[in-house]
Amino acid sequence: MSTLPISTAHGPSTQAIHAGEQRSKPCHSLTDPIYCSATFTFQNTQEIIDYLENEVPREEYARLGNPSEKTVEAKLAELEGAEAGLLFCTGMAAMTSFLLAKLSAGDEVVFFDECYHHSREFCLEHLSRFGVKSTQIKTGDYEGMEAAITPNTRLLISEAPTNPHLSMIDVERFAEIGKRHGVDTLVDATLATPFNLRPLAFGVDYVLHSATKYLAGHNDLLAGVILGSQEKMAPIRKLRNVMGGVNAPHNIYLLQRGLKTFALRMKQHNATGQAVAEFLDAHPKVQRVYYPGLPSHPSYDLAKRYLNGYGGLLSFTLVDPDWRAAAKVIDSVRIPHIGPSLGGAESLIEQPYILSFYKNTPEERAAVGIPDNMVRLACGLEEAEDLIQDLEQALEQL
Ligand SMILES: *Cc1c(COP(=O)(O)O)cnc(C)c1O
Repeated sequence: MSTLPISTAHGPSTQAIHAGEQRSKPCHSLTDPIYCSATFTFQNTQEIIDYLENEVPREEYARLGNPSEKTVEAKLAELEGAEAGLLFCTGMAAMTSFLLAKLSAGDEVVFFDECYHHSREFCLEHLSRFGVKSTQIKTGDYEGMEAAITPNTRLLISEAPTNPHLSMIDVERFAEIGKRHGVDTLVDATLATPFNLRPLAFGVDYVLHSATKYLAGHNDLLAGVILGSQEKMAPIRKLRNVMGGVNAPHNIYLLQRGLKTFALRMKQHNATGQAVAEFLDAHPKVQRVYYPGLPSHPSYDLAKRYLNGYGGLLSFTLVDPDWRAAAKVIDSVRIPHIGPSLGGAESLIEQPYILSFYKNTPEERAAVGIPDNMVRLACGLEEAEDLIQDLEQALEQL
């Protein structure tokens, strides 16, 4: 059993293609087989005893692990510079399993408010039922975060960059607050990916990704991953074994296949996001563009300091404040499809007010900073010039 000795000296494409994979595969296959097996068998009783006594690395039952799952976990750990990674069937399964593994009744969690709305909902509406207190702090208010820490605080959580405002946090400062208070930190870096940001290198304890987005990259599967040190990941693995939020073998195969082009795709997403953001920023009908690669973004300096690229996701508001103007632009584009999500080959466009916050009051939308006329565009892998021309004709409809 030999794998290519991939090291941090290798670039992200070499890591994404080779890390975690055996050099020699069944039947001389170049690519990995899909192990469609619910269970794994033993030759005899002694083999079971050896497995249990010596913790021989092998499979037993697919909820506890599958060979391709281990390969992809090792690949993602290499990309992230982490000791260990754990795959889940969705990003939210990763987030909720993580929180349940780390928190008990009486514990507290503090998070920056520009957080994925379902992560916030899980903390505020569900963990509260188990006696866990959650405190939301305005994103980037480090003093506020520090002041909210009590002896019961166990976790600090942030996204980097955030969605849909693309705010960047000071990752080192965030990690340092956790270290000083003996509280673990987690960054949901779904929007950055390890191509643009490696939070663990700045002292963060855990990184989480919705692998549904850029890591898988094809808008065709859901998956999630959480990464950190072997020691810190152990209780999360133990809980995953009982909660069972694991991926089916075909899903893992698609994720592994998607990862082969991960670095190539990220280069294109970064270049397209920047070009489209600059076009919109200069357009007279556009009021404001939220993209960390623009000097006009409040997070520009932090983004330059921490990010290798700014990704394919951006938001913008129109000069026309009426929500119908934004809807008209969305209904007029011909290339992006209308829908949620990001990070795949196909561009996706949506209006957060309608798609995610339709049932909220204007006051609630104002509290989370969602203007009615905001458009969110997840640039896919189409040529930037084509997307720009398409947006130009859509803005002409106003
Ligand atoms: C999509 C997303 C999630 C949730 O991931 P799923 O795979 O949809 O469960 C969490 N965080 C961020 C930042 C996301 O974009």
